[in-house]
Amino acid sequence: MSKPDPQPDPEVYEQGRGMDAHNEVMREIRGRRDRTYDPREPTRVWIDEDNTPTGVYQSLTIILNTGGCRWARAGGCTMCGYVAESVEGGSVSHEDLMAQIDVCLEHEAENADERSGLVKIYTSGSFLDEREVPAETRRAIAETFADRDRMVVESLPDFVDREKVRDFTDHGLACDVAVGLETATDRVRHDCVNKYFDFSDFEAACDEVRAVATEDDADAGVKAYLLLKPAFLTEFEAVEDMVSSVERCAAVDGCHTVSMNPTNVQRHTMVEDLFHDGGYRPPWLWSVCAVLERTADADAIVVSDPVGSGSERGAHNCGECDEFVQTAVKDFDLRQDPSVFSEVSCECELTWEAVMEREKSYGMPLTR
Ligand code: SF4
Ligand SMILES: [Zn+2]
Repeated sequence: MSKPDPQPDPEVYEQGRGMDAHNEVMREIRGRRDRTYDPREPTRVWIDEDNTPTGVYQSLTIILNTGGCRWARAGGCTMCGYVAESVEGGSVSHEDLMAQIDVCLEHEAENADERSGLVKIYTSGSFLDEREVPAETRRAIAETFADRDRMVVESLPDFVDREKVRDFTDHGLACDVAVGLETATDRVRHDCVNKYFDFSDFEAACDEVRAVATEDDADAGVKAYLLLKPAFLTEFEAVEDMVSSVERCAAVDGCHTVSMNPTNVQRHTMVEDLFHDGGYRPPWLWSVCAVLERTADADAIVVSDPVGSGSERGAHNCGECDEFVQTAVKDFDLRQDPSVFSEVSCECELTWEAVMEREKSYGMPLTR
């Protein structure tokens, strides 16, 4: 018997797990992309405000263009449109990545009065995957932001390693690793999201980060990203899956924050195909509120920043109440006080309740 491949590699997970069919469909869908991108420009950059274990900070959020997630190239997750935004050919050089960082610093200087205490770096995949971001670049970026307080870097669990985290904490930066876990339920992660790893891999990544915190007495932790309402779940199933996922993540040592992302319909994805065919509706904002309210006692900061909310492609209610419900969510993110939700109401809450009660599956037959 040959020894297992020591390199973390999504292809290994894919084999024999029944994921080939999902991947084949996704490769075809992504093949329709029609735009190309400049490797010296970040995918996106913006200034915001975030709640962290050490308080609320002004944040600089960067989506680096790194050539894309290697899992996405095999097919990737059912809702992820990032790969359609990535660079043709698959890798971006150190110089180009640093040029993207310069663009972000300029953006910050032009759009904020002060420097952000928190810097969050996402990629179209994993910042800690050295095929996307070489070690040299990771260290140069840590040095560039050494005068800040906290950094968040995004990674799939396979690439999380205590030495990589130390590149940041050795500069005195608090470091949070953001892991796109999506759900604590392996079956939903595999079959609805088409993501290849298990909850136990997430726990192992938390152990790596926690080792830095305990051995070096550094501030290092994990931020779990969860996906509210992946394809193929009813509204009710999605809410129940999310409540149990938040609770299971909060119970893992080292995971101090849970960020719940309602699915939004991105271009060139399987979710988009389902959406056009009447097979998918993004979650209700009432579902976001319900999860936040029910998990308010969890032993972690629980936040949600619904991308594109209020629009057809993002989490939405009836159109009348979306804006003030979203304001309540934002308020909860910063203060963690569930009473904000008792101050919002709308007639459409009754419709949401009926959906929660009656929806059986997205493709319910019309006749029997
Ligand atoms: S969600 Fe993450 S792992 Fe999945 S395809 Fe997108 S970037 Fe890759
Ligand atoms: Zn409403």
